[in-house]
Amino acid sequence: MGAPRTIVLANQKGGVGKTTTAINLAASLAHLENKVLLVDVDPQANATRGSGRDITHGCYRALIGEASAADGIVKTTGGYSLLPAHPDMSGLQIELSQQERRDYRLADALTSLGDRYDFVLIDSPPTLSTLSLNGLVAATEVLLPVQCEYYALEGTTALLDSVRRVRANMNPGLKLLGLLRTMTDKRNNLSNEVSAEIEQHFSRHLLDTQIPRNVRLAEAPSHGLPALYYDRRCLGAQSYLVLALEIMNRKPADV
Ligand code: ATP
Ligand code: MG
Repeated sequence: MGAPRTIVLANQKGGVGKTTTAINLAASLAHLENKVLLVDVDPQANATRGSGRDITHGCYRALIGEASAADGIVKTTGGYSLLPAHPDMSGLQIELSQQERRDYRLADALTSLGDRYDFVLIDSPPTLSTLSLNGLVAATEVLLPVQCEYYALEGTTALLDSVRRVRANMNPGLKLLGLLRTMTDKRNNLSNEVSAEIEQHFSRHLLDTQIPRNVRLAEAPSHGLPALYYDRRCLGAQSYLVLALEIMNRKPADV
């Protein structure tokens, strides 16, 4: 087994489906017999709670160098491993500001895990901060969820600019896995129009799989489960399985 594919879920826009994708993609990749680690670097800790685990200082300690990443990793009922987040991580912006290699903390912590995972997924916060930067620097690939609504393109262009800057200055190997259309609704004209517009602008980088708006995906986190283990047959769970297959077979491209 070689080095893992490390995929960061990133979009500077909030509420576009980063965390929902992180949890359900992690579960789907694990279901397809991959060893998967989900790293929660968002102080909101939604990926941690949505995975049915308690908040801990696992990720926090790994970032400040107080413990190794391996020390903080826990198992989940979704079949993947998790490095949990804690709201205290919101203070890291200041705590790390004077520290050496402050934007490389996550990269260093993950390097220490070697090749024990096939996929490492990183769920990052919506703002461009030290934490989201740590995610972009640690990753080999960026997966960009785009909610098919008005203003979707603005967030997308901003994120792609950030990816190019990080690649030029800090992480030369960083590639774009692709744009993922989330919360699509075939009966909604705006959703269809935005989806078509994204197709026009970013066709080369667009993933084939779309994630439909599906209430089961919104309900599952309050049960601490990926949709696959909450309602296996629901359209949301099935779509994330298709996405996992597409990603296993897809090579990332230059931004
Ligand atoms: P943040 O920027 O705050 O971290 P996010 O990008 O991680 O947000 P999510 O938390 O995944 O976004 O999703 C935002 C909201 O939309 C949540 O309430 C989630 O349950 C809901 N949601 C996400 N995807 C879907 C979907 N495909 N169908 C229905 N609801 C969805
Ligand atoms: Mg989130």
